[in-house]
Amino acid sequence: MLFKRLEIFGFKSFAKNVALEFPSAISAIVGPNGSGKSNVADSIRWVLGEQSMKNLRGKKGEDLIFAGTESVPRMGKAMVNLVFENKKNQFGVEFDEVVVGRKVYRDGINEYTINGSSVRLKDIVELLSKVGLGATLHHIIAQGDADRILYASPEERKSMISDALGLRIFEIKKIEAERKIEHTKENIKDVESLQRELAPHLKYLSAQAEKAKSTSDLKKLLDQLSIEFVCRELKTIKQEEDALKEEKTLLFAKIKVYEENLKKSEAAQKTKDGGEDVFSEFKKLNSARDAILEKRRKLDFELARLEVAQGSGSDSEMSVPKAKFKEILLDLVSDLESAARSGSMEAIRNIIFSSTQKIYRILEQINGSREAAKPGNVENLKSAILKLEEEEKNILLSRKAFEEEYRKKNTEAQKEGVLYRERTEELSRANGILNNLNFKEENLKLRKKDLEIDFPNYIKMDPQGNILLPAERDNMRKQIERLKIRLEEAGGVNEGVVQEFEETEKRSAFLGRELEDLKKTSESLFELFIDLDKKIDKDFKGGIAKINSLFGVFFNEIFGGGKAEIKLIEPQKAKKVVDPETGEEEEIEATEGGIDIIVSIPRKRIKSLNMLSGGERALTSIALLFAVSSVNPPPFLVLDETDAALDEANSRRYGSMLKELSKKTQLIVITHNRETMRSADILYGVTMGRDGVSSLLSIKFEEAEDLVKK
Ligand code: ATP
Repeated sequence: MLFKRLEIFGFKSFAKNVALEFPSAISAIVGPNGSGKSNVADSIRWVLGEQSMKNLRGKKGEDLIFAGTESVPRMGKAMVNLVFENKKNQFGVEFDEVVVGRKVYRDGINEYTINGSSVRLKDIVELLSKVGLGATLHHIIAQGDADRILYASPEERKSMISDALGLRIFEIKKIEAERKIEHTKENIKDVESLQRELAPHLKYLSAQAEKAKSTSDLKKLLDQLSIEFVCRELKTIKQEEDALKEEKTLLFAKIKVYEENLKKSEAAQKTKDGGEDVFSEFKKLNSARDAILEKRRKLDFELARLEVAQGSGSDSEMSVPKAKFKEILLDLVSDLESAARSGSMEAIRNIIFSSTQKIYRILEQINGSREAAKPGNVENLKSAILKLEEEEKNILLSRKAFEEEYRKKNTEAQKEGVLYRERTEELSRANGILNNLNFKEENLKLRKKDLEIDFPNYIKMDPQGNILLPAERDNMRKQIERLKIRLEEAGGVNEGVVQEFEETEKRSAFLGRELEDLKKTSESLFELFIDLDKKIDKDFKGGIAKINSLFGVFFNEIFGGGKAEIKLIEPQKAKKVVDPETGEEEEIEATEGGIDIIVSIPRKRIKSLNMLSGGERALTSIALLFAVSSVNPPPFLVLDETDAALDEANSRRYGSMLKELSKKTQLIVITHNRETMRSADILYGVTMGRDGVSSLLSIKFEEAEDLVKK
């Protein structure tokens, strides 16, 4: 049996702890009026989640707690446990028993437990639904409630039968699905409106981000190019510097050699250059010769005078022969002419002086001096002249030798000069090259400085890559400049926009996904809704068919014939119809549809359920109840005096129907009926003592009969 035990403590009249075991298919609770039997059914109903105080026959929670009597004090709380079998794991929890409990305190606070742990009512409902114990509690038929279905409206009946068929849970799911569909639709609308709001902003941001991205690409390109340029330029500079250094080292060595050579040349020139000495020697020789020539002129003159004096000894008027005289005059003329030609005052003076001397001597001769004209003097003069001629000859020879020497020296000096000039040029050329190299070095420094200024961020990079050729360098520089200008024009990279765009795009994508999810959810909810609707419809119609066949059988059995059926009334939409008699238009309201019950009792013409007697009504409703319970048997069924209105014959039929039904569902019946008691496997007697407290004991059939008779 699923329902193993009921434990009651402090609930209504049960002040003492009582426990009812339900080991068999039919358990009966018997006892005199007012002993507390219905309180047992109430306790079960209460634990299963009953919220209506009316159904619990009270006004407030406190009414469920033992109120106390003259002899027994009232209690602070009521507590009831239903113990269920779970060996087959029917409840889907890992316990052999499932104990569902409910407590209520005097302050009205309710507490639900599952195996001792506090839970919510929702958890209890969920757990019980797993074994087909629906929250509608249709399986607990309260006292006098059995024929409620006959009084109920068609709609209510439909709902009751739907519950009994176990379709309630699907109805709830269907309503839930519908609610969720509505909710999802709202969400879809919200998301779509968010998307609409976001779209223009996203478009704007996208354009901005695109711009920023291309700017960022420019920046990347610029960085890349700058790095490449700096690395290569540094390497190029380094290589050029190294080459210059090497060139300079070689050049310095050459310059050193050239300078030494030049020094040598200078020294050599000094030793070879004897020009001054030669000239002074030359001058000396010339003046010595001049002196000789002077002496000789004097001697020539003296000789001429003496010869003239010897030739004209007898002529007192003319002591100088004519020829000689003519010669002397011609000589004078020649002197004077040379004086006239000469540019030097010194020479003119000399010539004038010698000419004056010559004139004096002629005058002396003319005056006739005789003493000079001695033959010995002439001879002496002649030899003196010869000697002078000899001396002059020697001087000329010497001068020639000097000239020779000078010419020789001059040629060597000239050669040295050429060499000197060549070496000077060589050195100056080398210095020129050095200057050029220094200039280049300075240029390299400038290039480095430029790099530092233009690329301060990359200047620490390692020199690497291919050497930059000048054209390439210019090209790269230009490219970099152009990129810088473009970047400047673009106004720099706006990281904020990119980030905002990415975030907005993410949000938009998120909304898109959400919308998709919502649409999928909506679709699957709709599918679920349709499926549930179909299932409910199908199961309901199928259920009605099954109920009908059993209803007919039970009814027939009870009434010994006749007919009974339930009929589905389809829902009607509101419409207008014209009354054929009056011709007036009538408004017919919409109906939800429901269940009609049609019975025909043998030998009676029953047109309406209202025409049935109390017993007939009870029998009809029992037939229907049993039919429904057979089609969808609940785990247990509590029947509180459902048999109250039956006569003996019908009680027997009822008893056998109970037996039949107990094959499908566990039955707990509260009864005064002997036949019903007889069909029970176990009997509990409820009594209320003078203390106003219900007590309970397991009894035998005979004892039960006695108890009821009391
Ligand atoms: P009947 O056969 O006439 O239907 P019964 O056995 O079903 O009677 P119950 O209706 O279960 O009787 O019990 C009613 C009794 O329970 C009454 O005597 C009532 O005083 C008592 N009772 C109800 N609520 C409380 C309570 N809170 N405290 C004490 N006793 C209570």
